[in-house]
This record gives sequence, C-alpha cells and structure tokens, in this order.
Amino acid sequence: MNIKEVDNKYLANTYNRFPVEASFGKGAILTDKSGKEYIDLGSGIGVNAFGYCDEVWCDAVKDQLLKIQHTSNLYYTEPSARLAKLLCQKTGMKKVFFSNSGAEANECAIKAARKYASQKKGDEYFTIITLKNSFHGRTLTTLAATGQDKFHELYKPLTDGFVSISAENIDELENAIKLYKPAAVMAECIQGEGGVIPLSADYLQAVRKITEKNDILLILDEVQTGNGRTGKLYGYMNYGIMPDIVSTAKGLGGGLPIGATLLGEKVQDIFEFGDHGSTFGANPVSCAAALSILERMTDDFLDEVKEKGNYLFEYFSKCKGITAVSGMGLMIGLKTSRPANEIIGEALNAGVLLLSAKDKVRLLPPLNIDFDLLKKAASIISKICEKEN
Ligand SMILES: *Cc1c(COP(=O)(O)O)cnc(C)c1O
Repeated sequence: MNIKEVDNKYLANTYNRFPVEASFGKGAILTDKSGKEYIDLGSGIGVNAFGYCDEVWCDAVKDQLLKIQHTSNLYYTEPSARLAKLLCQKTGMKKVFFSNSGAEANECAIKAARKYASQKKGDEYFTIITLKNSFHGRTLTTLAATGQDKFHELYKPLTDGFVSISAENIDELENAIKLYKPAAVMAECIQGEGGVIPLSADYLQAVRKITEKNDILLILDEVQTGNGRTGKLYGYMNYGIMPDIVSTAKGLGGGLPIGATLLGEKVQDIFEFGDHGSTFGANPVSCAAALSILERMTDDFLDEVKEKGNYLFEYFSKCKGITAVSGMGLMIGLKTSRPANEIIGEALNAGVLLLSAKDKVRLLPPLNIDFDLLKKAASIISKICEKEN
C-alpha cells in the first residue's frame, strides 16, 4: 500500500485531504512526493509563521531539544518563563497559562472568566456570550462557544452556559446582558473560519465599553489573528482596545503545538494552585520555538506584513472574478464569482496552495514570505479567478 492508502485505511475519516503527499518544505515552498513544488499560502492553517524549516526557528528547537524535551510543570524551566515574560511585555497582559492548542487556550479563558464572575458576583454569573458565525475550537465546551449550529448537531448535549448573538448589533448585546447573567463576552476580532470577517472598530469598541461598565470580561480569541497575522502583534491592537483575556495558539509556536491564555489585570491572580493544569503545557521545546518567533516580530517586521497585506488587498480588489476582499494583514478572504473549491483545486494544480473559509478562498501565507513570490502567487490566483468556467 502507498501512504495515501495506508492513511485512508488507518486514520479516522475526519479529513478530506487534497491529493498531495507533503514531503519537505523550505520557506513558503512545499514539495510533494513526486517533486512538484507549491507556493503554500496556507502555512499549515496559519501555523508556520516563518514558513517551513526556518533556520533560526530550527536552531532554537534543536538547541532546546538536546537540553531537555519535557519536564512537566513540577519544575521551573527557562523557555516558558522567558516566553511568558515576553508575551506580557509585548501586550501589557499580566500572566500567562500555557497549553497545547487553540481550543485549550479558550477552555482556560472560559474557566478564568467563570471563576472570576462567580467569585465577584455569584455562582449564577456563568454565561459566556459569543458571536454568531464564530469558531472557538472542537472540544465540547469550545464547540458550545462556537456560534454555528452545524458544528453542534452530532454532539449534544454540549457544555451549558453559552449564548450567541449577532455581531455588529449592540441592542442584541444589551438584551443578552439583561436576559442572562454573563461572565464574559468572547469574540474573534476577525472571524477566521467564519469567512474572514473583521469586526468593525465601532462595534468592538462599543463592546469593550459596555463590558467594562458592567464588569463583564472581554475574551478575545486570537488563535488565528494573533502573532503578527494582521500586521500587529495581536489583532486587538488594530482596534485601540484592551481585552481582559487573550487566547492564542496557531502561529505562536511557528509549527510546534502551543497554546497560551494571557490574563489581564482583573484576572491575573484568578487561578490558585491546582485550579487548572496541563501535562504538556509549557513544553520547553514548544516555548523555545515560540520565543524564536516572537522575538523576531519587531515593528519593522510587522510593517512588512501590513505592506504585503495591503498589496494583496489592492491587487485582488481590481481582479475580475473576485467580488469582495476582506481581512487584515496576511489574513485575507476572497469572495469569488466561481465556487471557492473550484478556484482552490485549480490553484493547487497550478502550484499554489490555498485554504477555504465558508464560501470564500482564504489566504494565510507565511508572514516572512518573499514579496516577489507572493506577487507571483497572486498573479496565478487572479488568472484562475478571471477564467469563466
Ligand atoms: C483554529 C482556531 C481554534 C482552534 O484551535 P485548535 O488549535 O485547533 O484547537 C480556535 N479559535 C480560532 C479563532 C481558531 O482559528
């Protein structure tokens, strides 16, 4: 049996894979088993922030790997302490809890909010208000937070205490605050899986004001928008607001699994010994990897991300066959005249890897992608979009 057959026989049937056997990668180029090269504008769903096998990242990982690969959280290690400090310095948040994924980072955020609200206001203040069309993960609790029914159907009952409201509608938020006793509002500043839809600054700023006034925590799920993706270190920095809790993962480790929940002033000391934990969380190799990513996300670097994003935005806005462009920085959604899946399939044949998000084509290129390579990929995509069937 070849690898595709072995995979199909022995892996759970959860993924409808593209017919590509990834063999090795360098930068933004992925090479498959047959030697065909692709410009990868998906970067492992926004994970490989510096592309495949970035040298600095590889060295950081190898150095740590040959020292200590894991200790559990029973002992101090240097990478997690340094990473937590750097995250706090760069965001103004106060403390960090490390886990292994976006869903886990959100679970921790939800736990922190529930503990805070029950202590401060009473046990009945447990509801988390989320937005329709959101995506917060695949665990039963983060599915409950996810405001899309299609994810819920097979797995009921989900965790209690979540309601979703329409984005951009302050009346619905105010109603929900009256109807439920919310602990927190939880949102993505750009809905990623939901179709690359940014919240308006007016709306998110109003949400911040209202939650602040009512001592309701604001949790921002920056799993996809975080770590430089939008041209700022975290998406909320585009909005001139400060959330109470930020969850992040995807790009943070540059390709190794790590999640982080950043706790702001109000909740910095909400957890006490034994309140929460993770065996693999704060893994030294993952933390060393993340340090090598975050340390290089300087203002100049982020400006370049923004510049590349602006280029794509303008380029695709003028393209026939693309009816709308959305997003920020290097997180871009394209509404195409032809079905997104057709575009993605043809791009793959032409050597460009793309993602989808609902009915859109989604781009999450490596942040350090060479500008000329990005332009080349954009021109291939626009030619495909312009074609009429
Ligand atoms: C991907 C994603 C998650 C889930 O992350 P996992 O690492 O797959 O658990 C949660 N929230 C958002 C916004 C995401 O994009």
